Amino acid sequence: MAVVMTPETSGAFRPANRMQGLALSEIVQISEKAAQLRAEGRDIVSFGTGEPDFPTPPDIIAAAHKSALAGQTRYTPTAGTPALRDAIAAQANSGRENVLVSTGAKQVIANALMATLDPGDEVIIPTPYWTTYSDIVRICQAVAVTVPCPMDEGFKLSPDMLEQAITPRSRWLMLNSPSNPSGAVYSAEEIRALAAVLERNPHVWILSDEIYEHLTYGDFASFAAEAPALKERTLTVNGASKAWSMTGWRIGWGIGPRPLIAAMAAVQGQFTSGASSISQAAALAAIQGDTALLKERCAILKSRRDRVVAALNAMPGLRCRVPEGAFYAFASCAGLLKPEGGPFKSDADLCRWLLEDAGVALVPGRAFGLPGYVRLSFAYSDAELSDGLSRMAEALKRISS
Ligand code: PMP
Repeated sequence: MAVVMTPETSGAFRPANRMQGLALSEIVQISEKAAQLRAEGRDIVSFGTGEPDFPTPPDIIAAAHKSALAGQTRYTPTAGTPALRDAIAAQANSGRENVLVSTGAKQVIANALMATLDPGDEVIIPTPYWTTYSDIVRICQAVAVTVPCPMDEGFKLSPDMLEQAITPRSRWLMLNSPSNPSGAVYSAEEIRALAAVLERNPHVWILSDEIYEHLTYGDFASFAAEAPALKERTLTVNGASKAWSMTGWRIGWGIGPRPLIAAMAAVQGQFTSGASSISQAAALAAIQGDTALLKERCAILKSRRDRVVAALNAMPGLRCRVPEGAFYAFASCAGLLKPEGGPFKSDADLCRWLLEDAGVALVPGRAFGLPGYVRLSFAYSDAELSDGLSRMAEALKRISS
């Protein structure tokens, strides 16, 4: 992985120690390479990015417009507008003081880790994980303790694996259900089994990233609801980006115990202040709006999922489990790698070849801490999916015959 921040990066510039080991995201590298090939006139299908292809619903945009015209264009309270905090709290059976609104769920996570981690503290991260987790941990000069959860484990952390990963320095367990990149969803029983281990380890807090909650194709279980005994050390992370196609509006939120929320607000107060006033008005309209559109969009994504998984499993060398949530297929490419007699040295090698040969951009599993897989986002139109999948199938057939 290309390390971009080292003391010798350039001349007089000396990055802080906390920047050591921060890598240029593999997702960004693939997107840049795809953009470069496009600029050269190549026709590229990109399945790389993690955002819905649907537009933000018009009534949400109208609410933002209305709020701006009504003069809601000033600084907002650091922790969020009372109206939005109250609406989030009401849905979570919690109180305003338990809610912090931030500039995206990403900032919620950054606030929580900045507010709690000292150098050398450990954060347990089941792998594959969303790349930002380990990088924020690094910026905090803490240690990401990654626990590989391969496909045969359903990409999920078991109570035994958790027990073994806990040390006296563990501060957080970061869970993400539905998961980016694997699409795995923890059931209520699985959450309760992990909670039993955590009950015996009161020094470990739980960050439950549920940003894909509304993009679940079966049952969804929230950690806080299933593990009430751990309420005083559980932070639930959610936001508007994925469910309502609002990635550019930058609104996320955290729900947790008051002292943690207050400490997170103190961090946010110095770094960015309150989130955008107009975006908060839009997010309020989103969470109070009709859920019919969410269901409709979820159904579209589900049918795309079924097509994509079937197509990937029909390709030589790829093996894909059905994701129960989010909009990513995370397929094992072990059958195409050298140890199993395939032509490629690594998942990254395969992705480079697919981009150059077939003009299809995927992200290698190693970007998510689990080499030997590729991630394909299916938040793309049917036409793009058909085009990209048939290009992949032809290219892989060619090299396998
Ligand atoms: N968590 C996960 C698992 C994600 O995939 C993302 C977006 N890629 C986020 C959090 C952050 O979302 P945002 O900052 O847009 O709210």
